[in-house]
Amino acid sequence: TEWDYAPAPESEAIGRVKERYLPFIDGKFVEGSGDDLVSVNPGRDEPLSTVSTVSEADLDTAVHAARQAYEGPWSRLSGAERGKYLFRIARGIAERSRELAVLEALDNGKPIKETRDFDVPTAAQHFFYHAGWADKLQHLGHGPDPKPLGVAGQVVPWNFPLLMAAWKIAPALAAGNTVVIKPAETTPLSALVLAEIIADADLPPGVVNIVPGAGDVGAALVRHPGLDKVAFTGSTTVGKQIQQTLAGTGRKLTLELGGKGATIVFSDAAIDQAVEGIVNAIFFNAGQVCCAGSRLLVQESIAEELLTRLRERVDTLRVGDPLDKNTDVGAINSRSQWDKITELTRAGVDEGAELWQSSCPLPDKGFFVAPTIFTDATQTMRIAREEIFGPVLSVITFRTPDEALAKANNSPYGLSAGVWTEKGSRAMAMAARLRAGVIWDNTWNRFDPAAPFGGYQESGFGREGGPSGLAAYLDTDDEALIG
Ligand code: NAD
Repeated sequence: TEWDYAPAPESEAIGRVKERYLPFIDGKFVEGSGDDLVSVNPGRDEPLSTVSTVSEADLDTAVHAARQAYEGPWSRLSGAERGKYLFRIARGIAERSRELAVLEALDNGKPIKETRDFDVPTAAQHFFYHAGWADKLQHLGHGPDPKPLGVAGQVVPWNFPLLMAAWKIAPALAAGNTVVIKPAETTPLSALVLAEIIADADLPPGVVNIVPGAGDVGAALVRHPGLDKVAFTGSTTVGKQIQQTLAGTGRKLTLELGGKGATIVFSDAAIDQAVEGIVNAIFFNAGQVCCAGSRLLVQESIAEELLTRLRERVDTLRVGDPLDKNTDVGAINSRSQWDKITELTRAGVDEGAELWQSSCPLPDKGFFVAPTIFTDATQTMRIAREEIFGPVLSVITFRTPDEALAKANNSPYGLSAGVWTEKGSRAMAMAARLRAGVIWDNTWNRFDPAAPFGGYQESGFGREGGPSGLAAYLDTDDEALIG
């Protein structure tokens, strides 16, 4: 990648994992008054670190600090000065990239290959991109001097802990807001290292507050009356609760929720590339991705050939130690997520789908699942309807483009889809009729901070990234731009 990695070897980066991490409130690392939580290394099922969590009183302090910072120093800065801080944070992430890549692999369980080449550089890129917008907001089309919303309360999940924090913090600050953000309880560490980077960048105290805790802390944060905006990424169940909590408050809300993405492969597709795309769509981050391609819709005439090649390829994936640079599929983030995947896999078998699993041996310790492919799946089965959030693919066949469309759209979600065909006109026609916020053509999992990301239906609303993502943090009613 383009970043210069710090020269520290992995062992030094492992040695830098602290025994205890503290909340970051009003520019200081402080003991929270909630119970401590233990962050587990899912690759070994061993404790990794202890984290002090916040109470409702600590949340009040954090929201108050964010308000003071918003009304005080932060609002007096020009866009160019805010941009300077964002550039510093971006550089700080790049400078500590090796340490962050190791920490994220240890805390989340994803392979170092992914944290090193995707999570960490993409997080830095997100700050670089938004640093560039901070002094150009007048070009967004919301008038000459668009106003921020104020204090944003943000809650993020565990599947891309650092990257999701970057997706939330960077646009909020670029637009002139201040934030209180809660990382997920199983993966709070990288956000607290980001807090160190933010402190080193000399941001005025209170502009960013990072408040670790479990779901009850998230619930207390989103209902806090001192917020002007709530941004949530997580499950559809919790997203619905938050929408109810905020109903009638007038506070702005964006929700990035679950998905059940369909990869659609037509008979004219470049089959080897399609196989690579399918592998990426469902086995990247062990399928714990909101926009995972967890349903494969394949045209009947090529189904057998495609599945043969797909199984051969999946059998070569190395499942195991997240810190091994050769690992392709790491650990599942937690025991409860492992249980959920196992339960849904059993449901697939019980409902009559045909199970195939890769032959790669799994480590004795830690939460691992073999890459799994279900054929003979039908649309009514749980494995075809529910978000599994694991390395489990359900394969369904189709004959015509209309049938593919109907099946792809037959989901309460609407986050991602992909079309594999050599015919550009067909890809465009499908894209126009697929009900999904993100549609990839002959590829999957391509992200760019300039491109809006978000869902339809039960996948949520609002967009992150690009001008639409900034509009979500500005006082504008231009829904067309918000998305
Ligand atoms: P989750 O909803 O259980 O938790 C997400 C976050 O919300 C965590 O920080 C959690 O502590 C907090 N939380 C839990 N209960 C809460 C409540 N009542 N009020 C406020 N906050 C609360 O989801 P999860 O299982 O951690 O994450 C996986 C889910 O996130 C999947 O469904 C996935 O699709 C979704 N996700 C969506 C996107 C996207 O951009 N659309 C990205 C990543 C993950």
